[in-house]
Amino acid sequence: MTPDFAVVAVQIGSAFASDQLFHYRIPSGMICTPGCAVIVPFGKNNRKITGFVMALAEESPVPECKEILSCQGIMLNAEQMELIKWLRENTFCTYYDAIRTLIPAAAMKNTKPRKKQNFLSMETLPPLVLSPEQQAVFETIAPALETDQPASFLLKGVTGSGKTAVFEALAARTLALGKSVILLLPEIGLTPQNVQRFESRFGNRIALMHSRLSDGERRLSYERARTGQADFIIGTRSAIFAPLKQIGLIIMDEEGEHSYKSDASPRYDTIDVAKQRCRYHGAVFLPASATPTIERYYQAKKGLYHLLELNHRYGDMPLPSVEIADMRQERENGNLSEFSRSLHDALAENLRNKEQSILLLNRRGYHTIISCCICNQPVYCQNCSVPMTWHKTDQLLHCHYCGFSQPIPAACPICHGTKFRRMGFGTQKLEEELSSYFPEARILRMDADTVSKKNAYAENFEAFRRGDYDIMLGTQMIGKGLDFPNVTLVGVISVDKALFSGDFRSYERTFSLITQVVGRGGRHSKSGRAILQTFIPDHYVIRLGAEQDFEGFYAQEIPLRKVMLFPPFCDICVIGFTGTDEKKTAASAELFMNCLKLALQNHPEKLPLRILRPMPFIYGKINNKYRYRIIIKCKNTKQFREFIRDALKLASKAKETSGIHIYVDMNGSTSL
Ligand code: ADP
Ligand code: ZN
Repeated sequence: MTPDFAVVAVQIGSAFASDQLFHYRIPSGMICTPGCAVIVPFGKNNRKITGFVMALAEESPVPECKEILSCQGIMLNAEQMELIKWLRENTFCTYYDAIRTLIPAAAMKNTKPRKKQNFLSMETLPPLVLSPEQQAVFETIAPALETDQPASFLLKGVTGSGKTAVFEALAARTLALGKSVILLLPEIGLTPQNVQRFESRFGNRIALMHSRLSDGERRLSYERARTGQADFIIGTRSAIFAPLKQIGLIIMDEEGEHSYKSDASPRYDTIDVAKQRCRYHGAVFLPASATPTIERYYQAKKGLYHLLELNHRYGDMPLPSVEIADMRQERENGNLSEFSRSLHDALAENLRNKEQSILLLNRRGYHTIISCCICNQPVYCQNCSVPMTWHKTDQLLHCHYCGFSQPIPAACPICHGTKFRRMGFGTQKLEEELSSYFPEARILRMDADTVSKKNAYAENFEAFRRGDYDIMLGTQMIGKGLDFPNVTLVGVISVDKALFSGDFRSYERTFSLITQVVGRGGRHSKSGRAILQTFIPDHYVIRLGAEQDFEGFYAQEIPLRKVMLFPPFCDICVIGFTGTDEKKTAASAELFMNCLKLALQNHPEKLPLRILRPMPFIYGKINNKYRYRIIIKCKNTKQFREFIRDALKLASKAKETSGIHIYVDMNGSTSL
């Protein structure tokens, strides 16, 4: 006897606490199993909606049970069903949010994908010969590919050590064993050469998955992975959900990049999903970086990852030599420009030698602050508690959070003063200053304003590689992963601000950015140098970043994390509250404190907890939504998640929280 009822997940909002499954009767003769997509009547008007069968049941808790209208067949396999439950359990999302993440909307539509193409014929690349150091790493990992036991390795390889070649060799071995591969990259537009290289070697076994695909392309990639036509997936965060069978290897390049953490429901960290899938498939997990996160490195030292290192650049090129330019000294000497003497001279020399330079400045726009000369208040966005940035291109103030723009106001909204001071400099101003010093230089500016078009990244990088430009200046999008043979000078204009962003990860992010951008230089036959400009030359992050000394940085950072109680010594659970009414949003956060206290009473077992009282986020309003948070330092266990779930249920019943969106974010950013 097959059960008569199906337990169905439908889309009815995104609040975790109100997420529930609905029972439907399976009409006689209909074949319906867990994983099937079904059309069901819903609500008072019985509108037809799509649902997914999560389980079957012998009975229904309600006597009057509606019937399934039609069954579309199986859309979710057994692993996907497990992943959905895992996502819901671990990220506090709804069933439907989890399902939507696994099956892209485009693939849900019940139409045949158009077959047109994502294919280059396989070029004959020269056979890959690994350096002895690369070979040693390969040989340590390779045996683990042959077993069905999960294994985790952490590859720490200095910039230019040739991590990609190791990935290539491992991928080839995995495919030869009849297993499939996922290669994750933080941002696919940034590494077109890498992707091309893989495509030339592995041809149409590859499917790409990233956010810049059209719906049709996305659906095609999904189908090719599902049917086994593609068994090598290259992509960004969402590619971790590729519906592959028999995964043998998951590589995560530049692990720790924050694009790997989803900041909308489901708020998963790609690394957790990767580990989960490797456990399921008995696969090898390989996160890699020149600067692993403090958390990962700590775990590797504790033996949770087998630590592997590439300590030399491919071809034994030296790492770039780095000079710190003390900008306080420059100012004292009367140099008011954004370029230190030494960076100016080095740029001039590079232009003479026809070698290329890269300049990093992590702020776009022209002036980053416009403030009233009388009350000193910056001009804020009308929708956000964020100071606006002036752009020279359209002579308008822009909000980089909600996109709002306006002219500089006639009068200060606070004191009605009519004079404004223009301060701070972004990439536009830097470009202007640079071309005034070097009128003959061909300058490529790369920031969110210049590369909004779909292929602009790739085209610009290609043009720079060809030598169409002398200097590339840009925000952190140029900082990582790129490999240009003719770059011999890297200038870091300023990263001082990034150190104090208010997030406990700001030091490691800044350290990583410095190390990585410095590492863009001198990767081939010419040696490289870098100049790091700063007003805080004695800060250990700046000093160790300049020395590219990861071990030294780790040794400084880990005791700080321990004393301050931050990961890896605890988990950070952020409860976020957003709403259009500030008082109500704040009140919901206060109320939630009580819910936490009540929920704690149901959990007599010892939960190690430290709850920090409600506060606005650093940007307390974005897009007219007020934003509050509670930070809980905890240990992310099943019991802890149950406790949070109990508190969410209590809060959702209180009338004070109506209209307030409450979410839970595990180990995400504490500042955004
Ligand atoms: P990383 O990602 O570790 O910074 P890359 O993978 O970009 O370094 O490699 C740096 C450079 O060295 C690239 O130009 C790459 O093509 C070259 N390279 C690395 N390993 C090999 C190899 N085994 N054979 C040929 N070229 C290599
Ligand atoms: Zn705004």
